[in-house]
Amino acid sequence: MIALDKTKTYLIDLDGTMYRGNQVIAKAVTFIQLLQKHHVSYVFVTNNATRTRKQNLAHMEHLGFSGIKEADFFTSATAAVSYMKKHSNEHYVYAVGEQGLFEAIGEGGYEIDKHKAKLVFVGLARDMDYQSYSEAARILRQNHALLIGTNQDRRIPEGDSFSIGNGAIVEMLRYASEAETILIGKPNPPMMEEVLAYVGKSKEECIVIGDNLETDIAFAKDNGLCSIMVCSGVHTKADAAHFRIKSDIIIESLDELYIK
Ligand SMILES: [Mg+2]
Repeated sequence: MIALDKTKTYLIDLDGTMYRGNQVIAKAVTFIQLLQKHHVSYVFVTNNATRTRKQNLAHMEHLGFSGIKEADFFTSATAAVSYMKKHSNEHYVYAVGEQGLFEAIGEGGYEIDKHKAKLVFVGLARDMDYQSYSEAARILRQNHALLIGTNQDRRIPEGDSFSIGNGAIVEMLRYASEAETILIGKPNPPMMEEVLAYVGKSKEECIVIGDNLETDIAFAKDNGLCSIMVCSGVHTKADAAHFRIKSDIIIESLDELYIK
């Protein structure tokens, strides 16, 4: 059993940590209740740019979580927009993605115009086809636009199988267009910069909890944070033994964590 420091803010991954697709992970609901009971602060940090905050909340409530708010979600779409607002003066953008990304772009005050777009945001878009991707690549190339990948996930686990992740799509568009590219989501520094600004904490005050070595644990270690790896998602203890960086703590299940 591992005692949690209740003065810290926990940056908690969603898929593979709280649920797997449409299935809640055992002990995730009671873990969140434990944090709430002890007034420990937390935010759900996800590379998934497809859902809006409202949709994320609805999904969690449907799975049995309670007492969480829309503001408890921080997505790579939100991070991509807030990061670009700080680092670029461009106003016109184009985007490939789903509702979560388009909501974030709207909140950022950007205007979508494929002829003037100098920034092209790319999040997972499950209904895109060859023609739509070709158009996005043409916009990138003709407008000399910057490609902003909301995340670089290789694969999306689905049971014993997987679907192609957004990182692979971003890589395809980068290759076709030769556009300059910025990657936002975990493990990249822009995601950390933005989530720390969002919670108003320093990296010493936060701890990452997640299931994925390449995204969550690298996100923590590459950016100087402590991490807790939970083996309920994509990676196992055996994977962790071979990974280039080590998680501070590795647990099989969230019920190994307690608060004094
Ligand atoms: Mg995960």
